[in-house]
Amino acid sequence: MLNLNFHPAGRHFLQIPGPSPVPDRLQRAMSYPTIDHRGPEFGALGRKVLAGIRTLFKTRHPVVIYPASGTGAWEAALANTLSPGDAVLMYETGHFATLWNKMALRLGLEPEFLGLPGSEGWRRGVQAPMIEERLRADRSHAIKAVCVVHNETSTGVTSDIAAVRRAIDAAGHPALLMVDTISGLASADYRHDEWGVDVSVSGSQKGLMMPPGISFNALSPKAIEASRTARLPKSFWAWDEMLEINKTGYFPYTPNTNLLYALSEALDMLHQEGLEAVFARHQRLGEACRRAVRAWGLEIQCADPAVYSPVLTGVMMPEGVDADAVRQLVYQRFNMSLGAGLGKVKGRMFRIGHLGECNDLTLMATLSGCEMGLRLAGVRLPGSGCAAAMEYLAGTAQRSDRPIAE
Ligand SMILES: *Cc1c(COP(=O)(O)O)cnc(C)c1O
Repeated sequence: MLNLNFHPAGRHFLQIPGPSPVPDRLQRAMSYPTIDHRGPEFGALGRKVLAGIRTLFKTRHPVVIYPASGTGAWEAALANTLSPGDAVLMYETGHFATLWNKMALRLGLEPEFLGLPGSEGWRRGVQAPMIEERLRADRSHAIKAVCVVHNETSTGVTSDIAAVRRAIDAAGHPALLMVDTISGLASADYRHDEWGVDVSVSGSQKGLMMPPGISFNALSPKAIEASRTARLPKSFWAWDEMLEINKTGYFPYTPNTNLLYALSEALDMLHQEGLEAVFARHQRLGEACRRAVRAWGLEIQCADPAVYSPVLTGVMMPEGVDADAVRQLVYQRFNMSLGAGLGKVKGRMFRIGHLGECNDLTLMATLSGCEMGLRLAGVRLPGSGCAAAMEYLAGTAQRSDRPIAE
């Protein structure tokens, strides 16, 4: 039976790649009283977060904030820009790309799902040349949008979005470029304007370190133009009223006020650390985690070192080992949650999240839990992943300028 009074000593280790652990600063910010969303204080909050969120997407254009999970923002991206029966080109990097493709079908679009054969596609990033070739063959420009996932959270692969932009341009094709960076934003480098993305989709519970519950559409002028003639039904998701009312810092319907407090605080935290430093921290933790996996003699789900995810690492199990049994052992003995294998790779791998509120010692505790769990599950480990990760972390640790005492 589910026991909601389960409060063991110490912190639960929530090492799934989203929701990621919520920092105390955000937790405290959310405890401020809920205010009148049409009152004077709200406007200041609304203006701050609407301007601030653009700095994360690196865009000069509007970003829409929805009180919804990432899935809602996926729907908003499609519903605002496309019409029934439109052809869209999507690329299969993993489970989340598959779900977005399924949504396009359900909305009455005609998605084509490109990808590498078999399970190869789930170990590599988007193959931009395949997109270019397909768009070149589409002489009548029937394809209205190209949809790809930036950081595929089900596999631990971060695709090269600039390369996808170059492929579309090389083919001389006018399709919109839509990118899911739900788990990439604020953890991995992302540049909405520079990469020529038309709609970027993101959510609160991954790199932004917030609880689930708000999500985003970053727009381009071309996407806004497309929304004026797009005919898929939309009302709650419609950009037009939202953009109009957002100009003053307000929303057309009740926003998630307390999550906006958290967003305001998250923006401060990210900019105080510095976005480049945040990305570098994630890259370094990712490298330490991969060194641990290699020392355990296990395979990393991502087979292309050029696109390793800084957000999470997919760990493949040897033949005959059930990844979910390992996760269960780790959960029951060490009070840590690891990400499950999703879709095609269910039971074959687990995922270690190293995003958001995570530092060297968080990762080391996480890796110890994994190493103990793997041993308990009977996996024969040729070496200690923890030792390998510690060696790397100790060798690359930055000294902070804080004195230890006055
Ligand atoms: C988490 C995630 C989603 C789904 O978002 P929800 O908030 O669960 O609706 C979609 N795509 C990617 C890449 C994700 O990481």
